Amino acid sequence: MTSTGTQDLVVEQRLRAAIRAVPDFPKPGILFRDITPLLADHELLARAIRDMTAPFDGAGVTHVAAIESRGFVFGAPIALALSAGLVLIRKPGKLPSRTTRVDYALEYGSDSLEMHADCLPPAARVLVVDDVLATGGTAAATCRLVEQGGGMVVACTFLLELDALRGRERLEGRRTTSLLHF
Ligand code: AMP
Repeated sequence: MTSTGTQDLVVEQRLRAAIRAVPDFPKPGILFRDITPLLADHELLARAIRDMTAPFDGAGVTHVAAIESRGFVFGAPIALALSAGLVLIRKPGKLPSRTTRVDYALEYGSDSLEMHADCLPPAARVLVVDDVLATGGTAAATCRLVEQGGGMVVACTFLLELDALRGRERLEGRRTTSLLHF
């Protein structure tokens, strides 16, 4: 392996090691992937942003749609790096102006997401960003919201993907990238 390849492997191991697994949070049976140790390390944070952005250099992204709340942390620097605007995808009742809304099913019950109705110009090319791809329901709903607003989803990108939950299948037909897989 080249020295660059070895360095990449070391960085990937350090990124993985900086994701803390917290059992039974926020409720029993959930293994929560806590990204705060990664966020607290400048070198790892910079690397994560750089590597999440790189696949979309030159992809003509005009807007990043970042999902509340940890998606905001990654969405803003990725938008800046791509010279794109930032659009906030939020839980109901948080956005102050006129919104569009999408409802989606959870394992038990349902949830909703909102976006400001006027935030995407015609022909917007949108990159959807979140920290974790789990079952994919949140990201799939965000794609629908963007499309309802007239945007075209270029891709969905995540810091990490929980492979066993098969969220990628909910995003079938869409370009989906994740920096780390657990
Ligand atoms: P999902 O709709 O199931 O793909 O869930 C994705 C959203 O829930 C993301 O916004 C994540 O921040 C959060 N999430 C789901 N499962 C986990 C987990 N095990 N650890 C951390 N965050 C999670």
